[in-house]
Amino acid sequence: MAEIINGKVVSASVREEIAREVALFREEHGVAPGLAVIIVGEDPASQVYVRNKHKGCTEVGMYSLQIPMPAETTEEELLEKIGELNADDSIHGILVQLPLPKHINEDRVINSILPEKDVDAFHPTNVGKIMLGKYDLLPCTPAGIMELLSFYNVDIRGKECVVLGRSNIVGKPMSQLLLAKDGTVTVCHSKTVDLASVTRRADILVVAIGRAGFVTADMIKPGAVVIDVGINRLDNGKLMGDVDYDGVLDKVSMITPVPGGVGPMTITMLLKNTLTAAKKKFSDK
Ligand code: NDP
Repeated sequence: MAEIINGKVVSASVREEIAREVALFREEHGVAPGLAVIIVGEDPASQVYVRNKHKGCTEVGMYSLQIPMPAETTEEELLEKIGELNADDSIHGILVQLPLPKHINEDRVINSILPEKDVDAFHPTNVGKIMLGKYDLLPCTPAGIMELLSFYNVDIRGKECVVLGRSNIVGKPMSQLLLAKDGTVTVCHSKTVDLASVTRRADILVVAIGRAGFVTADMIKPGAVVIDVGINRLDNGKLMGDVDYDGVLDKVSMITPVPGGVGPMTITMLLKNTLTAAKKKFSDK
């Protein structure tokens, strides 16, 4: 019988630890770790994410600054706001909610955030540090997956790890983190030939492609640990991952459900990054 990896339980446990550390930090430094979240426009999904980030921050005792900007904000105005936050000592983490309106260049915006305040870890400096294995800030979704694997004592060393998907925010950093833990890592994508023969080798399979139920039982090695990052909204309104959960359940040793697996970890890791950024600021002084 497969063990279900419960992201809500792990997330709650990590947040408890963060709250304890935030309390100590406040005592020691007289300020709270501060996160600023900029949202441009009124995309409903983004608004939900930003509200949840705010709630997460305040629940662990952090300072949360939400900055809503109208959809017609120019790139210059946004860069100016980021410049102000870069210079603001009460703000240790800055996050610009993506996607941005089409007229704003995302790369320029990401590059304008000070790397030490880049709690999404999307800045090229932070991406490079992950390649070098010398990182402080990790992208939240892959970092959350590493927490889940650690919490459930999944041994990565020497294991065949297959990452399905090569996006900059999930697949690529995920492969680096597994490699850093001595996994033998293969990355697959839409051009991979005979995908099933590769995924069937995986002791640990991480799937992040955005295709509901794409990974079926015939693509899985018996006893594999399966991490499903996908979040797909079905016509009936329900959420489904990239893995055919019911179809593979009898074959895997552990699996993350959708919802309730990887999802709950993402904001938790954002909080962890904000705490890390705040601590680093004081330790670097
Ligand atoms: P992207 O769309 O940026 O990347 C998708 C990747 O999947 C690409 O590398 C693409 O290959 C690959 N891919 C697409 N179709 C296939 C296919 N048929 N066979 C093999 N590979 C394929 O997605 P993201 O990484 O941003 O997100 C992936 C999923 O994870 C989404 O459902 C998203 O909603 C979810 N997500 C969940 C998060 C969470 O907190 N739980 C956070 C972030 C994302 P190629 O490069 O060749 O095009």
